[in-house]
Amino acid sequence: MASIAIVGAGMAGLTALQALKQQGHHVTVFDKSRGSGGRLASKKVGNASWDMGAQFMRSHTDAFAQQLQQWQQQGWIEPWPVAPWVIDSAGARPSPDEVERFVSVNRMTALSRQLVACADEFATSTRIVRCQHDQQQWYLHDDEQQCHGPFDALIVNLPPAQAQPLLGDSPQLQQQCQVEMLPCWTLLLAFEQPLDTAIDAAFVKHGAIGWLARNNSKPQRDAHETWVIQANHHWSQQRLEHPRELVQQELTTAFAQALQLQIPRATEQWLHRWLYAIAAEPLQRGALSDPQRRLSVCGDWCHSGAIEGAWLSGRQAGNDINTFLE
Ligand SMILES: Cc1cc2nc3c(=O)[nH]c(=O)nc-3n(C[C@H](O)[C@H](O)[C@H](O)COP(=O)(O)OP(=O)(O)OC[C@H]3O[C@@H](n4cnc5c(N)ncnc54)[C@H](O)[C@@H]3O)c2cc1C
Repeated sequence: MASIAIVGAGMAGLTALQALKQQGHHVTVFDKSRGSGGRLASKKVGNASWDMGAQFMRSHTDAFAQQLQQWQQQGWIEPWPVAPWVIDSAGARPSPDEVERFVSVNRMTALSRQLVACADEFATSTRIVRCQHDQQQWYLHDDEQQCHGPFDALIVNLPPAQAQPLLGDSPQLQQQCQVEMLPCWTLLLAFEQPLDTAIDAAFVKHGAIGWLARNNSKPQRDAHETWVIQANHHWSQQRLEHPRELVQQELTTAFAQALQLQIPRATEQWLHRWLYAIAAEPLQRGALSDPQRRLSVCGDWCHSGAIEGAWLSGRQAGNDINTFLE
């Protein structure tokens, strides 16, 4: 039984964890946040809650379709039978499609809580700032000068800009962390009464917004009227350093325009800036692995983007490390 560290408890790292535990390894997961999930994030303010990052899961591959089916059987995810609209300069129109969308219940983070449960140790609020390879072992240093290890193998599951500084002991992999990640300003609003619209979710093709959704139209959410408004990446990039009040104001106005409604005063609100929301051009490489050092780097940006890409990348990283340890 080998001892393995995973830095980053996002979908990719947690998928690698499943593969490593199947081989009986001892696995420690580290994350800088207070919990797991990364961009599978949820937010609670007062008595309102929202999915703040990823909105739903869908599959393009048989492997991920099977995984979704299994999670559904386990009761961890449910279909979200939403019929999204399209809103563009010509107005709003229903645009039903054949896509099967799934969400974890009762919030997106919940799936990560199920997945991380098999870790031998889960060190939260632990930001790793250095990964040191010494005499065939890995030692991890956190920002409070604690050293963790030794570990026989290491998986790094972070966005590229955050992974790069940790990979100084594997210059080849370090050089490959050059993928551009696009930002996303996200506004969360809660209201006293349901908004008077037939739209539960929409892809918005003009103006500031890229996606909007009534969060409480998802299964097993509480009835509180809550909306997620995600700016498009181009708009977000242009306003990356703008004052938060201004961004919030512009997004609220764009939301009213998109739904053609007078938006009442929100009872709760939250604005979040995702600096690394999605990869502009994912590497289509699975995972990046260094057999000599028993190191693998994974994340959506290494594969094909989105939750499915993260899952495929994490599966590859876990399988690579299992092979290196044989
Ligand atoms: C606004 C938004 C909407 C999205 N919508 C969808 C959608 O509808 N459907 C879909 O499929 N995908 C969507 N995505 C993309 C999806 O969320 C990601 O592709 C996927 O969750 C990425 O998983 P990951 O494991 O690659 O990385 P992450 O989830 O980013 O995980 C990385 C982890 O590393 C941790 N970390 C970072 N630095 C350190 C450090 N130094 N030490 C320790 N831990 C560290 C972070 O806290 C995080 O938990 C969306 C993303 C965003 C932001």
